[in-house]
Amino acid sequence: MSPLRERVRRFLEKPGTASLARYQRQLPAIAELEDSLRNVTDAELADLAGEAEGDAEFCAIAREAALRALGERPFDVQLLGTLVMLSGHVAEMATGEGKTLAGALAAARYAWQGRSVHVMSVNDYLARRDAEWMRPVYDLLGVTVAWIDQTSTPDERRRAYQAQVTYAPVSEIGFDVLRDRLAGDAADLVTTQPDVVLIDEADSVMIDEALVPLVLAGSADEGSADREMAGIAAGLRPRLHYETDDDGRNVSLTNAGARAAERALGGIDLYAADQLDTLTRLNVALHAHALLERDVDYIVRDGKVHLISASRGRVAQLQRWPDGLQAAVEAKEALAATESGEILDSITIESLIRRYPRVCGMTGTAVTAGEELRQFYRLEVAVIPPNRPCVREDQPDRLYATLDQKEHAVIATVAAAHATGRPVLIGTLDVAESERLAEGLAAAELSCVVLNAKNDAQEAAIVAEAGALGAITVSTQMAGRGTDIRLGGRDGDPDEIASLGGLYVIGTGRHVSSRLDLQLRGRSGRQGDPGNSVFFVSLEDDLIASYAPDTEPPRDVDAAGRVSDADAHWAVGHAQRVAEGAHLEIHRNTFRYNRLIEDQRQVVLAHRDRVLRTSAAADALAGRCPERYAELAGTLDSQVVEGAARRIVLYHLDRGWADHLAVLAGIREGIHLRALGQGPNPFGMALDPLTEFHREAVALFGRLLDQVEERSAETFRTAEITAAGVDLDAAGLKRPSATWTYLVQDNPFGTVLDRALRRFGPSRRR
Ligand code: ADP
Ligand code: MG
Repeated sequence: MSPLRERVRRFLEKPGTASLARYQRQLPAIAELEDSLRNVTDAELADLAGEAEGDAEFCAIAREAALRALGERPFDVQLLGTLVMLSGHVAEMATGEGKTLAGALAAARYAWQGRSVHVMSVNDYLARRDAEWMRPVYDLLGVTVAWIDQTSTPDERRRAYQAQVTYAPVSEIGFDVLRDRLAGDAADLVTTQPDVVLIDEADSVMIDEALVPLVLAGSADEGSADREMAGIAAGLRPRLHYETDDDGRNVSLTNAGARAAERALGGIDLYAADQLDTLTRLNVALHAHALLERDVDYIVRDGKVHLISASRGRVAQLQRWPDGLQAAVEAKEALAATESGEILDSITIESLIRRYPRVCGMTGTAVTAGEELRQFYRLEVAVIPPNRPCVREDQPDRLYATLDQKEHAVIATVAAAHATGRPVLIGTLDVAESERLAEGLAAAELSCVVLNAKNDAQEAAIVAEAGALGAITVSTQMAGRGTDIRLGGRDGDPDEIASLGGLYVIGTGRHVSSRLDLQLRGRSGRQGDPGNSVFFVSLEDDLIASYAPDTEPPRDVDAAGRVSDADAHWAVGHAQRVAEGAHLEIHRNTFRYNRLIEDQRQVVLAHRDRVLRTSAAADALAGRCPERYAELAGTLDSQVVEGAARRIVLYHLDRGWADHLAVLAGIREGIHLRALGQGPNPFGMALDPLTEFHREAVALFGRLLDQVEERSAETFRTAEITAAGVDLDAAGLKRPSATWTYLVQDNPFGTVLDRALRRFGPSRRR
């Protein structure tokens, strides 16, 4: 391609996309080697894989291995995917194109390059399934493979990480990294040095779930006085006492509200510097009261609050909100408070991924996330064409004036398609909507299966049947489900379903991102199958109410409520673009905030590692307290003194870091609330919470390691140290007796800091 044409092509393509040309050029060489490999023995194949000079040679060998192991000869487009991942990019390949295999071949090549590969899946079920499914291919290629799930023991995990390729859900890798943070002995470490990560459903993990913190908590704590706050929040009236933003992300007290709360709390001044804690708790309670809605944001089952994951629209196992918010919702629903603990450490999924020097991935919808992948991970996306051209027909939105009219139309459309036997997959935006729709379908005598992710393995089996004759399947968002839908289901006749028109995908509303719309549409039309997709939208949908609230009432409405105004149709796309912009901004802000903490965390971790593996602790303490050191060294074995010094320093380092995190969280809340209390300041420039946060956080961190050393010296001087080591408990320095891990669903409205930034930041829109 001439340079000009190349530039024009780049100009026309979406930002962040990588050209496929250099990978396509390798295909003839791969094809040429194919026949010569037919007669090679299995054992020779593994040897050849190890000796392969270039990627093309390896791909030819891998193609032969896959054919022998699975009976599936990788298509050219799959090998393009493999090559793209080997270059450290994200491969966009539609659902059903065979990404599992393409990814495995890339992982095997990395392994032969001497690297250790983690393949990250979105859940336990997929990690296990994919590792076992691909195992015969890895065996032929002479590469070791293992998997980890929630139930794996520490020994199993340690062994799994020793394999050349390890499949694991993102959360388990994160938890292992966090648990290793507390190891008292280098022999207890489970994880290995991060090297290559290959992420399946890359957009779902890296964008939708990026900000979810994984948390390691320890030692039980008292419940809280949040019931009092919940009572006060429940007594406040919307508009009079508090105001919510149109998009339902922010709630703030009015002056009248602050006065009412101050009276209820016995006449305190909420905005006094020493009432920061009260103000924070009240704000959290108000948040739970005014912004979190039962059956949309969470459900109550068996006396517990279960979160509904904002990005996947289904019950999120193992997830909770940040502690205060969880307690506030429990208080609001008058439920017993669940265990809460001190956060010992936490890491976001984004930070977890950024630890790997080489990141690559695959997904059906990457290009719409290209801008974010480039900004946050410096990754490029390469769009791989489908093996067979996609003939799915994506119909224009059907827009209705009201929700009721929309729901009627959905049911009528399902009934009509179902009458022909055609399978229908209906994607809803939340659990409450799924249930309402199922009732509506039942009333119309249509039986359906509703998915709400209680069990990933079981759900995968159900999704696999969604293409069967006469199936009606209702599901919340399909992103990251990892199961492709074969026409006819497991054992039906695909041609029969194809002759009916293939899978009919219906969305009951546009998502907050067009990428999620595409994920749903992509379930139909796999491998050149026929199919349709259509979204039903109403002007009463949350998307429009939140992001295009000024939309004019429609002029052109028929008897069934169908709207044909061009303006109204435009408003739907507009609302989605505004929502996408808002989410990107939140991500960007949280990213900046997390970056600083992550940098500090790395410094602490590097220090901890030195303490764990060397005599650094003893050396430092010998320097600080030479007399005490000489005294101990005179009577005790040097190993014992070294071990005691190590335990003392680790204790204070871990303690110091946990406290530091808690203080940072407090600062983050506090800055925002102080800013809210003061209102926009008279000089026109709002207090910039991020700058303020940085200033305080950097100053605090500057003192952290010194303090750790001082406290360690103090303990070293005073604690009893015998041949049995140091008795930290007797010195009142208790390590957490129990630890546990969980994911925090960072509250769906963005963190308090984000809300502050949105309120005061220079880029606030609307
Ligand atoms: P994706 O993750 O891209 O949605 P999967 O990896 O789940 O797709 O594969 C979808 C289906 O395609 C699987 O049933 C798999 O066995 C099949 N498949 C993958 N590659 C090939 C191939 N080269 N030839 C035939 N079938 C294939
Ligand atoms: Mg997949």
